[in-house]
Amino acid sequence: MSTPTPPFSIQQLLGKTLSCTCGVEHTIPTQAVIIAEGALEQVPSCCTRYLPGKQVLLVVDEVTYRIAGERVQKYLADAGYAVEPLFLRTRADGRVVADDENVAHVRTRIRDAIDFLVAVGAGTVNDVAKLASYQAERPYLVCPTAPSMNGFTSGIAAILSRGVKRTIPAHTPVAVVADLNILSTAPPAMIRAGLGDMISKPVSNADWKLTQLIKGGYYCEVPLRIVEEAEQACRANAAAIGQGEKGAIGILTEALILSGFSMVVAGSSSPASGGEHLLSHYWDMTAHWHGREENFHGAQVGVATLVSATLYEKLQRLDPQAIDWTALRRQYPDWEELEQSLHKIHGPLAVEVIAEARKKYLPLPEKEKEWQWIRENWDTIWQELSPILVPAARIREILLAAGAPTTMRELGIGAEELRTAFLHAKDIRGRYTVLDFAHDLGVLEGLCEEVLSESGVLG
Ligand SMILES: [Zn+2]
Ligand SMILES: [Zn+2]
Repeated sequence: MSTPTPPFSIQQLLGKTLSCTCGVEHTIPTQAVIIAEGALEQVPSCCTRYLPGKQVLLVVDEVTYRIAGERVQKYLADAGYAVEPLFLRTRADGRVVADDENVAHVRTRIRDAIDFLVAVGAGTVNDVAKLASYQAERPYLVCPTAPSMNGFTSGIAAILSRGVKRTIPAHTPVAVVADLNILSTAPPAMIRAGLGDMISKPVSNADWKLTQLIKGGYYCEVPLRIVEEAEQACRANAAAIGQGEKGAIGILTEALILSGFSMVVAGSSSPASGGEHLLSHYWDMTAHWHGREENFHGAQVGVATLVSATLYEKLQRLDPQAIDWTALRRQYPDWEELEQSLHKIHGPLAVEVIAEARKKYLPLPEKEKEWQWIRENWDTIWQELSPILVPAARIREILLAAGAPTTMRELGIGAEELRTAFLHAKDIRGRYTVLDFAHDLGVLEGLCEEVLSESGVLG
């Protein structure tokens, strides 16, 4: 078996194992990806080839059933499959959410007789079907109905669990059947959200690299290589993507699928989810406090990426000699102090948040070693990060070309919520990001207004 080499294509990676210079063998378990006009008709043949058995649980919501689920059901029934449609539950506010309740709802319907699941939908349906099928040890196939995010082929599910948005380990779909006739007629806001999710790759990869440099964690450059070309193609075709042109939607869909693979290779969402994703997750978690609805994940991520990229630019221009390290040492909280302040800041979310924040808290002596390393290696850090990062101005151009949101106003989220997220979103997950980096240097608060105004997101 030949080992795939860059530039990677989807077909080259399917079902393959790469022996990597990072020392890890990367396996892509997904067997088939079909991206074509009219691809839905190929669902039965794809099932026959890759998914044994005849009893199918078709996971949909009311909208996705109408758009594509009903047809998938018919095609499968015509091919001799016994198909049981299962509609996700709608919350009291009329929304369908990927939460614990919906996962349990699907999970309880996976009886012994069910051989595999077919999920028809975008992020919500995919996440719920992915986690429920994983828990019930059944394979699944997904038919995306909108190119709105990159989670279709990842091995993790984003679930609202006990009030906190979490990425929960699951499995990858055995096959993806993406019908361009359906994807290109998805609501423009969802298509642009897909581009917003892709556009975060430079900053999320920079956060991952930064973590390796400062914390000594695992990093592999293959995830970045996997999406590199497809991501550039998305940037070059941003306007056509925004207009829903079929060819461009194909390019975006390919990039989103490769981005899912990049997370499989990394063994985590790190190459596709850094501080910018924390801002977005924080807005999701606090939406109901402010009486607003969550916006599309990728729409929020696109705007948050402008903030993150601007923060990187500010930090790069910082002179480490100008940082008052003595004051940092003096003000550094012990864990009990930090815990108390997290209680005050995060209110009802505090218990869950504290468990995450605990994961990256260091006692002062260890933090001092980290500071020293940063001081001594400042130039190295930026030499490593510069080739990964993309200027905020360029990201903004791309989002604008696609007609995607670039301001908080367009997201329906207030400036105050942006400030709160900028200062405190770092607490909601154990992962180290540029937000922690800035906080640890004592400049997060001081840079807040400058970053937010220069990022242009305040409109
Ligand atoms: Zn590797
Ligand atoms: Zn994302």
